[in-house]
Amino acid sequence: MGLLSRLMSIIPGDRVSSIAQDLAVDLGTANTLIYVREKGIVLNEPSYIAMNTRDNSIHAVGMEAKVMYGRAPRNIKVLRPIKDGVISDPDATNLMIKSYVGKVISKVRLFKPRFMICVPSGITQVEMRAVMDAAFQCGAGKVHLIEEPMSAAIGSGLPVDETRGFMVVDIGGGTTDVAVISMGSIASSESARVAGDEMDEAIVDYVRRDHQVLIGVLEAEEAKIKIGSAYPDANGETWSVKGRDLSMGTPKEVILTASQVAEAIEEPLEQILKIVRDVMDNTTPELHSDIYSRGIFLTGGGSLINGIDRFIQERMGVPVKKAHDPLTSVVKGAGRALEEFDRYKKSLVC
Ligand code: ADP
Ligand code: MG
Repeated sequence: MGLLSRLMSIIPGDRVSSIAQDLAVDLGTANTLIYVREKGIVLNEPSYIAMNTRDNSIHAVGMEAKVMYGRAPRNIKVLRPIKDGVISDPDATNLMIKSYVGKVISKVRLFKPRFMICVPSGITQVEMRAVMDAAFQCGAGKVHLIEEPMSAAIGSGLPVDETRGFMVVDIGGGTTDVAVISMGSIASSESARVAGDEMDEAIVDYVRRDHQVLIGVLEAEEAKIKIGSAYPDANGETWSVKGRDLSMGTPKEVILTASQVAEAIEEPLEQILKIVRDVMDNTTPELHSDIYSRGIFLTGGGSLINGIDRFIQERMGVPVKKAHDPLTSVVKGAGRALEEFDRYKKSLVC
């Protein structure tokens, strides 16, 4: 018997897996989160990497790279390697994940870890391959994939294996993913490229059009996070953004009201509603009536917009609930699927 198998036989099974440091990874367009089995979330960073173009080395990753966006010197390129929920720049993605994985698990490993990676529903075979390759390059021994709406539901404690279905709407950075879940699997789903980033761009456009001031997308994102709302009459809050006066070329501050931000993001919100409606319209009559009684469940960072639950509920006539922790529910669900593998294995892609 080899050393490894002898070790395996004397260490209890649960100990082996904790030594193996199995990981769940939510590789989002906006944020990357890593959950280590039995430890919980150990990393939560923006999905950004800054590369030195002279020698292709990593200059910074995560928050350090995000703050350089739009400010980096000529020889530094700040990249968002995940686009619309899938890997758009494989080399940069591999470097980013490697650097994150290196931060959270020890270099000396007795066993290769299992990776549970969250992927958008409706991902293509080629896109799946890219995700799996990235995981293997980071030292994964085995890779499982779970669809994001499924892991969001598991992570929020929803009973995914009940016969009666419900709907999950995950509003992330690049995409909104809508899925109908029943009997432990996804009955139908749709993904569209309108989510948080589109709202940021809509705010940039609004400020340019109405104030002739050009602001950066991160400035717009901050305004959205601070006072973003689905209803113009929401409250009297304001937020100041700074940009460049397009006629004078000088710096200028614009005070935005919550109503103005609501007006700016109205169009992307209408588009998100349309995706929800499309999935509703294309579902079976049985699931349709299940959703009317069990409801729509909102998750992803975009669900933090004030009043977005009321907006969807009023327009669809379906009860809508928000996740408690919409930015972490996906990775938590994937972590839980690792910890209770036998219970959830039928809900995985592979
Ligand atoms: P992804 O899974 O695509 O990485 P996330 O679920 O992490 O996306 O959500 C990121 C999006 O949520 C970003 O567009 C971010 O601006 C937005 N967001 C985060 N917090 C808030 C908030 N409080 N209000 C509105 N939007 C928010
Ligand atoms: Mg996500």
